Amino acid sequence: MFLDSHAHLDGPQFASDREAMIQRAYDAGIRALLAIGNGDGPDDIACAIPFAEQYPWIYASIGVHPHEARLLTPAHLDNMRRLASHPRVIAIGEIGLDYWYDHSPRDIQQHAFRQQLQVAAAARLPILIHCRPSANSNDAWDDLLAILRHQWAATNLGGVMHCFTGTLDQAHASLDLGFILSFAGNISYPKAQNIRDAAAIVPLDRFFLETDCPYLAPVPHRGQRNEPAYVTETARHFAALRALTPEAAGALALENFHRFFHLPVSL
Ligand SMILES: [Zn+2]
Ligand SMILES: [Zn+2]
Repeated sequence: MFLDSHAHLDGPQFASDREAMIQRAYDAGIRALLAIGNGDGPDDIACAIPFAEQYPWIYASIGVHPHEARLLTPAHLDNMRRLASHPRVIAIGEIGLDYWYDHSPRDIQQHAFRQQLQVAAAARLPILIHCRPSANSNDAWDDLLAILRHQWAATNLGGVMHCFTGTLDQAHASLDLGFILSFAGNISYPKAQNIRDAAAIVPLDRFFLETDCPYLAPVPHRGQRNEPAYVTETARHFAALRALTPEAAGALALENFHRFFHLPVSL
């Protein structure tokens, strides 16, 4: 059995085969999937909820991605507070900082991130973090960890470093803050030794596996549209680093997910 802790199911990439794609995920053994509620931007954060209402093994998040931070208004935050009480919404995210693309100015990204931390803290929901620094820099990580230490650590709610791509130091800092490291298909990319280094040291009760589909397909699907069923390949790559079978790695990730989010195990 497997977990996909981060999937964008709502996009146009799946317009032609969305139901079949979800069935393939179940047939591959996925027994929990977190559908990410970013959609096209702040007007669209409820986009993952219909999946979670339809399938008992799918859960939903809500959040405004750092790319769209400049579009976030008080009305959007009101809507987020309202949706946060939906019984199938288990996290706020993905939220965070992206200094690689800088689609929104950095001060505005930080402000939107802090505002969403407040919503999450009030709703007592963990957060899903997207963090991407600029080239050859730790800038976004330094800012992110400072904000988390100042404004989030005291909530004891923790969260998930989605698609972890940081250094070993950033891995340890995240674990110290109570975060889970979630590994995506880029663990299999030849240049991503830093990701494999983190996967080699993460405690086996502190990791998730994800696709971040439709992006970042693992080897041997690299370059194609990604989909949840391919998380089995990511499990294979993770397992090889820890002398586990792919099935054992998948089962551990699934168990970690249920424990972290306090979910009933209904398989
Ligand atoms: Zn992301
Ligand atoms: Zn994502």
